[in-house]
Formats: sequence, C-alpha cells, structure tokens
Amino acid sequence: MIFDGHNDSLGRLQEMDVAPELFLTGLPDRAVDLPRARAGGMAGGLFAIFTASEMDGDHGVPIDHEAAATFTLAAIGRAHALAGASDGAVRVARSTAELEGAFALVLHLEGAEAIDPDLVALDAWYAAGLRSVGLVWGRDNAFAHGVPFRFPSSPDIGPGLTDAGRALVRRCAQLGVVVDVSHLNAAGFADVARIGAAPIVASHSACHALCATSRNLTDDQLREIARSEGIVGIVFATRFVRADGREDPETPLSTIVAHVRHAIEVAGLDHVGLGSDFDGAGMPSELADVAAFPRLLAALRDDGLSAAEVDQIAWGNWRRVLGLAWR
Ligand SMILES: [Zn+2]
Repeated sequence: MIFDGHNDSLGRLQEMDVAPELFLTGLPDRAVDLPRARAGGMAGGLFAIFTASEMDGDHGVPIDHEAAATFTLAAIGRAHALAGASDGAVRVARSTAELEGAFALVLHLEGAEAIDPDLVALDAWYAAGLRSVGLVWGRDNAFAHGVPFRFPSSPDIGPGLTDAGRALVRRCAQLGVVVDVSHLNAAGFADVARIGAAPIVASHSACHALCATSRNLTDDQLREIARSEGIVGIVFATRFVRADGREDPETPLSTIVAHVRHAIEVAGLDHVGLGSDFDGAGMPSELADVAAFPRLLAALRDDGLSAAEVDQIAWGNWRRVLGLAWR
C-alpha cells in the first residue's frame, strides 16, 4: 500500500472544471485518478488545494483571502461530490481509521490563504474535512514567507512566521491538523520547530545536500524533522532531485532513490516517506503517473532496502505521523 504525501489532482479537477466523477473512471492526460491508483497500489494521499497566482520572477504574487477561500470551497465541494458518487470506493479521510477500506483523499491546503488571520475559517474548513495545512506556497501570505524558487540557493531567504502564523501553527496542533513546511523558508521552519507543538511534516521536499534548490531541506532540517517525530515525503519533481536543478523527464529513478537513501541516513528510516507532486510538477518519464509507483518501490528494493523497509516508506511512516498529528 502506498500513501502519497502530495499531489495536485484535486486542484486540477477544479481548475479544469471537469465532472468530479471522471476521477473515478479515468482522467485523460492526468497522473492521478482511481483506476491509475488501483493499478499502482496507491491507497490515498494528501490532496492539495492550491489557488494559483501569477509569478513575479522566482516567487509567486500574493493572493487575497477571498479568492483563495472561494477556490477552496469549490475544491472541497468537488472532493465530497466525487466521494459521494463513488459508491464507497473513495472517501474524504478525517482519521487514521479512514485511511483504509476506501481510497483516502486527505484534504490539504497548499498555502493557507483560504484561512483568515483571525483563524475563524480554519474551524469551518476543519469541519468540512481539512486535515493538513501547508503554511505557504512560494509566495508570502499573512502567516509566513514562502521560499522563492532558486537554484542554487540556500532555503534561508526572508523572515520567519508572523504572529498570525505562530497562532495558526498552535491552533492546528490543538485541532489535530497537520502543519506542512514544504515551501516554507528556513526562518519559518525554525519557528515551527521552536513552537514544537506537533510532528513537523514536509509533504513534498527533497534533500538540499543532493540538489541545492531553495525548496529542499538541509541536513539540519531533516534532523529537526526526526526530533519532532515528523516525516519528509520525498518529492519526485525532477528539478528538485537532480544535482543540476534542471527539469528533465529523462531523470532516472536512481536519482529519487538517492534522496530517499540520504534522508534515511540523516533523519532515520522512521521519518521518510513519499510525496510525489503528481499533477503539479515535471516528473521522470519512468514515473509518469501513480500507476508507476511499483517501479519506484522496485528500485528501492534493488538498492538494498528490505520489503519491510519499503513498506514503511510507502505507507507505515505516513500512517504513524498522521496518527500523531491528528490525535
Ligand atoms: Zn508544492
């Protein structure tokens, strides 16, 4: 079984304005849908809700709360609609018990703009099934500063969390909502670690030691994630895993395997999972969609990991950390 820490399927459904039921029967030219998930052994994942914005150089233009809230409402509505149309095959998962028995959509905000700085909306989104909040995307918002997309670059760009950001991290921990630090800058990451309220989750990041993009985690950050009982979902996006930082579909699976290995070496086996970014970023051609997950698992075994270790990376670690965060 595979739990994937990050995909953009739900946002794409919303942007494309397609009938949600198509997720159940198969979406043309997409990486994530139910038939492909079944073929690949994917049992669920964090489904990102991402309100797009223009780029200004290497960072995104900030968006306002109203626009993000409107988009998020519609995307959550679609998630429930497709679960409702699935005859029990898909559910919006709100607890670890609900991760099994049906394909599990875990609702995740990529960038917290849909939450107002007073956090009133957070309770509404929680009631609607939201269980994970990425504080920022690669742009600034009321809570934190997203790291710009730079290569090569340290992730240490810009200031830490705002007061509202610190309050959001604490409130998420109280409610039992994952706080995701992927896209957050180093000062913001350090603030989340200092608050220490919950396991630190980096849903879709890789190792800065192997690919020196601002989006990746330094070894110190990987150790901090382990100390917090958290997890890094290793991203498959070629520009975040290649040593040259280029987007290239000819990237071999061994490149991703090397990031899994490095994260295990630094953070420990218990703190490493998968976080593809399917439907959100350029993937290796060998890993074009979720049906190809078994190829990556085979590559991990070929590299010397045992079947039990691969199971832990693919499923067990995510399940344990979500259980800690959602308690
Ligand atoms: Zn992302």
